Amino acid sequence: MQARHATVTIVGAGPRGLSVALYLLCEGQGMLRDVQVLERHAAAASWTAPAMPEAMRLRSPALHDLVAWHDPWRTWTFARFREAVLGGPPARPASLAALYGVSRREYHAYLQEVAERLGCVVPGAEVVAIERPQSAGADARSSTAADGLDLLVRCGGALRRLHSRWVVLATGMVGWGGGEFRRLPEEMTGGLEDGVHFSHSHGLTIAPLANAESVAVLGGGQSAAEAVARLLAETRVPVVWWLARRPPRPHLYPVPSQWFNDRHCGRFAGLPAEARRRLLAGALAWGPTISPFLHRELLHSPQPRLRTRFGCDVGAALPWRRRVRLMLRDGDMAQVDHLILATGYAFDVRRLPFLRPVLGDLLVDGPYPVLDEDFRAVTRAGAAPLPLFFTGAAAVLRDGPRQLFVNSSGVTAKRILAGMQRLFTTERSGNGSRSLQPAFLQRHESVRTSKP
Ligand SMILES: Cc1cc2nc3c(=O)[nH]c(=O)nc-3n(C[C@H](O)[C@H](O)[C@H](O)COP(=O)(O)OP(=O)(O)OC[C@H]3O[C@@H](n4cnc5c(N)ncnc54)[C@H](O)[C@@H]3O)c2cc1C
Repeated sequence: MQARHATVTIVGAGPRGLSVALYLLCEGQGMLRDVQVLERHAAAASWTAPAMPEAMRLRSPALHDLVAWHDPWRTWTFARFREAVLGGPPARPASLAALYGVSRREYHAYLQEVAERLGCVVPGAEVVAIERPQSAGADARSSTAADGLDLLVRCGGALRRLHSRWVVLATGMVGWGGGEFRRLPEEMTGGLEDGVHFSHSHGLTIAPLANAESVAVLGGGQSAAEAVARLLAETRVPVVWWLARRPPRPHLYPVPSQWFNDRHCGRFAGLPAEARRRLLAGALAWGPTISPFLHRELLHSPQPRLRTRFGCDVGAALPWRRRVRLMLRDGDMAQVDHLILATGYAFDVRRLPFLRPVLGDLLVDGPYPVLDEDFRAVTRAGAAPLPLFFTGAAAVLRDGPRQLFVNSSGVTAKRILAGMQRLFTTERSGNGSRSLQPAFLQRHESVRTSKP
């Protein structure tokens, strides 16, 4: 399949991009079914190693999939795939336990099957720039949303300019091969060499560490736990240190569970931006938590090679020949061969390279684009609207932290479809150049426009 001009182009074939394609194909009217998903790697590549450990088990339950809970298309759910294709437990399991601990392999197979059934995913097509169309006149900035967008797409070494009426960005945060959003604290990495002294848990490859005498993993969340588990299972490193500020808590959810509730997220979306920022910071600081099964495996069964030091604060990491010295704030010091930073991710829309041509027109709030009720990008005063939607990490300030997970892919896709359909109808009735959603702008009272 080749990248082409299409009414709707979705960028990214992770769970969220696939979910939007699924809704458009199943429920979109007329031209909205003319959909393609451009993917720089292969469909669902973010669910393979090295982005995710081979033996990983999901934290999210089997019901968190690409289709909203109340929708009729049960043939598209993970639970149906597990039962019908993999011969797993029934789609509506009798016990809650059957919902948890799904393997990454199964979930990846499910995403691949969805991509194949949809038949509109173009692998190996990387979007390198999104621009207002050149044909819209001498000054492309004067184009309207109805003019669509141009996409510069790299396919097999060649660059092509394609046009789309609508663009949906579903490029995620940890997508395979990216790593753009790794959080690397300056005091840990200042004098250290990436790959020699330290690695981030994103896309971690364990093999080069096989001969190390000691490795330290820093962080108290799921990624830290997974790195520790891999070091113990896949290497013979005699000493594996696990350092964290707080002892990791076992919990099914990575953020408080109300954030997976549709009504709660609906109320959140209606709050002023300042209140949303405050609530979001609280939700994201709730951790560190790790899945109960990994907590049991690492901290409640004997692990002779594992040394834990919880409640410790590492002030700095310094190079010492080819080793690393960890300076603890309590005055202590530890020396290891390698440091794994499981320090998480920090999304920032201003660092999406392909957005640069239109970034100046987007209204941003800190690291997030301001999105309206339908997950459509809101533009700055004076800039023409853009036919651009976001789902996933970019939509966290709009919808809450569930956008960082598979959960809510379906409900978000549904809103995007509704938004496109409404705009399509409005345009056809002659109000296409209507300016920005004024009520929404008023509510988003305090807008930050700082540079990255
Ligand atoms: C170790 C680990 C464990 C996790 N466990 C869970 C879990 O148990 N449950 C859960 O819900 N979530 C989990 N997550 C988070 C998970 O990654 C997200 O929930 C999910 O993948 C987000 O989907 P997405 O479609 O938004 O983005 P992604 O899955 O990241 O997909 C984005 C896609 O966009 C593509 N892309 C990016 N830029 C371009 C471009 N310019 N052109 C074309 N294509 C592009 C990427 O190649 C990628 O395929 C985990 C993440 C990690 C790293």
